[in-house]
Amino acid sequence: KNFESARLRGIVLDNVVKSGYVVPTPIQKVSIPVIAEGRDLMACAQTGSGKTAAFLLPILNNILDESHDLEIGKPQAVIVSPTRELAIQIFNEARKFSYTTYLKISIVYGGTSFKYQNECITKGCHVLIATPGRLLDFVDRTFITFDDTRFIVLDEADRMLDMGFSDSMRKIMHHQTMRPEHQTLMFSATFPEEIQRMAGEFLKNYVFVTI
Ligand code: AMP
Repeated sequence: KNFESARLRGIVLDNVVKSGYVVPTPIQKVSIPVIAEGRDLMACAQTGSGKTAAFLLPILNNILDESHDLEIGKPQAVIVSPTRELAIQIFNEARKFSYTTYLKISIVYGGTSFKYQNECITKGCHVLIATPGRLLDFVDRTFITFDDTRFIVLDEADRMLDMGFSDSMRKIMHHQTMRPEHQTLMFSATFPEEIQRMAGEFLKNYVFVTI
């Protein structure tokens, strides 16, 4: 089985092949069709499992397929990551997979200039990768809203909990601008009670996957 069966559009598939990916990993095999079908997802998967491509590929593919007009400050997908390092990894993967497409990808994280990041964002971004605190800074100052957000990913949710981001995660997920019909994808290496509670709170009729 290869990536052909994931039914990605040609341009994305080319980028996957150029990245040297031949065979989808188990988490990719299961998650890509589930996300493409429009379902919410709770996936228990470790770093190294290929979870980043598992959510990025169907999201990028869907945004290209549906081709909604881009409005400044209204990302169509938001990926929340516990650390700057992980956010940068996701950003680099997203850029690789969207190479030669019109998709704009941005990244925001704490500990560095808000002003510079805001300048990048005001050029528009389909996909925003963010750490929780800095994302809320942008949201509180209304530079970012979730009005057009059709996908929200909480990556390494258990690590975000351990780092004390549970209030931030709730603020993001329950934000007044969050559309009722968005698709939520949660990834976590472990599945403790608090993550189970959050899955119940944030996800609708979700598919549970454990690898
Ligand atoms: P992740 O778990 O998303 O951090 O991915 C771990 C590493 O595996 C990254 O370096 C990816 O680029 C790589 N990777 C992910 N999916 C595949 C695949 N299907 N084939 C080969 N390498 C992959």
